[in-house]
Amino acid sequence: MNKLDTKLQHPGDQITEVIGRIYRAGLTTTSGGNISIIDDQGDIWVTPSAIDKGTLTRKDIVCVKRDGTIKGQHKPSSEYPFHKAIYKARPDIKAVVHAHPPALVSFSIVRQIPDTNIIPQAKHICGPIGYAEYSLPGGAELGDKIAREFKKGFNAVIMENHGTVVGGSDLKDAYVRFETLEFSARTLIGASTVGKPHFLTDAQIAEFDSQIPEDLPEMGEVEHTPEEQSIRRNIATLVRRACDQGLMISSYGNMSVRWQGNDFLITPRNVPRWEMDIQDIVQIRNGMREQDKLPSRSLSLHAEIYRSHPEVNSIILTQAPNIMAFGVSHTKLDVRTIPESWIFLQDIAAVEFGRQFAGDPTIPGIVSINRPAVIVQNDGIIVTGDKLLQTFDRLEVAEFSAKSLVMGHPLGTLVPISNEQIEDLRKKFLS
Ligand SMILES: [Zn+2]
Repeated sequence: MNKLDTKLQHPGDQITEVIGRIYRAGLTTTSGGNISIIDDQGDIWVTPSAIDKGTLTRKDIVCVKRDGTIKGQHKPSSEYPFHKAIYKARPDIKAVVHAHPPALVSFSIVRQIPDTNIIPQAKHICGPIGYAEYSLPGGAELGDKIAREFKKGFNAVIMENHGTVVGGSDLKDAYVRFETLEFSARTLIGASTVGKPHFLTDAQIAEFDSQIPEDLPEMGEVEHTPEEQSIRRNIATLVRRACDQGLMISSYGNMSVRWQGNDFLITPRNVPRWEMDIQDIVQIRNGMREQDKLPSRSLSLHAEIYRSHPEVNSIILTQAPNIMAFGVSHTKLDVRTIPESWIFLQDIAAVEFGRQFAGDPTIPGIVSINRPAVIVQNDGIIVTGDKLLQTFDRLEVAEFSAKSLVMGHPLGTLVPISNEQIEDLRKKFLS
C-alpha cells in the first residue's frame, strides 16, 4: 500500500487507498464494507453504495455535506446512517471503517467478543470492545445501537450477525485498529483449533509497556555506503512484502540486517509497516543510532543475537496469525510436516512471555543453526538466518506449516516424518 497522509491527502484519496487495501487483503467482499472520514467542516466523505470495491477511484467517493446535500456521482453507502450516528456520538472520532471480515464475523455469529489480551499491542490498539445487537442494516435503529456503544467509549464494536465497525482519530488509526482486531480474531480461532488460548494478565501487559528501551546515543556523521543503502532497500521491500503476504500487521514486527561487524540496520518504532521506506530504516553503528530516529523496541535483542551468533546476518520478529495460533495456545509447532518445513526450520523452540525483554539471555542462548526460529508465547516469532530473503523464506515456510497444521487439525492427528526420515533429510540437505 502507498503512504497514507491523513493531514495532506484528500479524504477521497485516503478512502480509496484503504478500501483497496482491505479488499486485496481479503477483509471485505466487493459489495460489503464501507469507510468514511469526517472533515473539519463537518462534511462526511464515504464510500458509494454498490460500486466495485476492487476498482474504486477518488471520483467514486461521495461527500455528504453538513446540511445533508450529497455531492458526487453515486449514492452514499446504505450503511451511511450509522457512520453519521458515530460521529454525532463521538466528536473525537474522525474516521470509521466497517466491514464483514471473516474471522470477526465468526465472532459476531456465535455472539462473542474477541478477548484481545492475547498479545500486548492488540489490547492497546483495539481497546475494550463493544457489542451492538442485531438490527436491520441501513436503519436508524442500528445506528442508535452502534452509537450507544461508541458513546460508552468503545472504539471498536462487534455487530451481532453482521460484522465489525471501528473508529479512529484519523483513517490510519481506524485502519490499524481494524486490521489488528481481525488479526486477533484469526489468531484466537487458530489457537482454539489447535488448543486453548492463553491470555495475558493486565500486569503482564503493563510489564511489556515498561520495556521501552533506553535510547542509544545519536551518532554524528552518518555514513551511507552502497552496501548500507542496499540493506535499507532490502529491509523496506521485505517489510512491505511481509504485510502484503499476511505475515506482518501495521502495528507490530521488525527486521534487521547485519552491516559490518556488529553494526546493523533495523526498522523503526511507530511507522506503520505497510509504508516502510528506505529513509525510515535506522542505522546502528558502534552502539549509536542515526540521529532523530527511534529503532525498534526490540533493538537490544537483535544486538545480542548478532553479538553471540556470527552466522546470523538477518533477523525478523513478527506475528503471523497461524504461527500465533501456536504462540497463543502454547501448543508445540511441530514442523516435521513436510521435508521443506523441517529442512528450513528444524526444531522451533518456544519460550514464555517475558523472555523477549531486554537483557534476558534466553533467546540469544537458544538460537542456533539447528534452531533458527523461536516462538515467544503471546508475543511473536523470531526468525534468524544469513541473507534477509532466506530468513523471510523461513518465516513464510513457518506460517505455511502452521496453517497446514491448523487446517489439518479437524481432519486428524499430525503424523510427523519419522526420526529415520529426518536423519535422511539431514544427511542429504544439511550436511
Ligand atoms: Zn455491513
